[in-house]
Amino acid sequence: MPDVAIEIDGVTKRFGSVTAVDRVNLQIEQGEFFALLGPSGSGKTTLLRIVAGLEVPDEGRVIINGQDVTNLPPYVRGVGMVFQDFLLFPHKTAGENITFPLKMQGVSKPERAERLDWITKLLRIDGLEERFPSQLSGGQQQRVALARGLISRPVLLLLDEPLANLDRELRKEMEVEVRRYQVELGIPFVYVTHNQEEALTMSDRIAVMREGGFDQVAPKLEIYTQPATPFVAGFVGHSNHMTGRIDSIDGDLVRIDWNGLPILVPKPADAVSGDGVEYFIKCEHIQIMDDAPAASASENQLRGRLRDVIFKGQTADYIVVLENDAEIIVSDASGIPRVKAQDRVTLSWPPNNGTCFRMSSG
Ligand code: ATP
Repeated sequence: MPDVAIEIDGVTKRFGSVTAVDRVNLQIEQGEFFALLGPSGSGKTTLLRIVAGLEVPDEGRVIINGQDVTNLPPYVRGVGMVFQDFLLFPHKTAGENITFPLKMQGVSKPERAERLDWITKLLRIDGLEERFPSQLSGGQQQRVALARGLISRPVLLLLDEPLANLDRELRKEMEVEVRRYQVELGIPFVYVTHNQEEALTMSDRIAVMREGGFDQVAPKLEIYTQPATPFVAGFVGHSNHMTGRIDSIDGDLVRIDWNGLPILVPKPADAVSGDGVEYFIKCEHIQIMDDAPAASASENQLRGRLRDVIFKGQTADYIVVLENDAEIIVSDASGIPRVKAQDRVTLSWPPNNGTCFRMSSG
């Protein structure tokens, strides 16, 4: 088996005047959990359908385990697929739904029973085989859909927003479960989602998609901590966004003027004084204090007034209005609000906690 499970080579797909997928190149390794993350309309589903064989690309090739499958129909690709709408047959039992692909392939009854036993135990739905979909909970129905996608022992599984119809608690539980199936089976999962939490929880690597192409393809930690573009910085995590012009340069840091407030930010490559830059600092990377300790020369320190505290359980969000009337949101994992609305507060953070980009028009 080659190390690369899926190779997408220069793939483009157009629908009339819309280029849904635009010259995409990607390699996915054996045993990898890979997420395609992006906003609605960015081309995630189209790319997944091209890998499945449900769409034929206008340009480029799809290679699965070393074989060019670009023009092969879906059923010979050895690929499993799970969709957002579970697409279960309402008048078939869970067991019949799960074994349906095997029946289509002419697999014998004893083998179907053996595989049903294996997959229902793996997905912890054994005992539910005789129930109809209407007699199953949302989570159980999604497990049945997953079991149907896996029972043919595919060489890879493609999942298109499979948890989107589940409520939040169940989704959290299923995120962990789906990851467990992937680890146990050892096959690559390619998971389409617009939900960054899902992508970050489950995957090894993430491709952030925008307008048919990739802004960044990297391990999830890198996507989170070192966004390659302003779009990724704004889309992944919760960040405060500041724009301004460079006033002065001091080694690796530059001072910008953000609506009248001086902010220190990391120097983007090739930036010079006067350039316009944008800076993203994640809400959880700012510290909030009710006093004003001596400022360190290499830290940002801003005064403001606490406008509101949103207590969310595990975290609290502080909305702070600064002296330039801009708002900053600070997330604090200690959860219990330490400062009260209307209090004077001080915010501080090291500039390198955030990411800075030179604006092309600057
Ligand atoms: P979502 O998260 O909303 O499903 P997506 O990132 O999966 O979005 P796609 O469904 O791949 O995006 O769509 C990409 C673009 O291609 C969109 O502009 C969409 O309207 C267009 N598109 C997709 N399928 C077709 C089709 N069969 N005919 C015409 N346009 C299409």
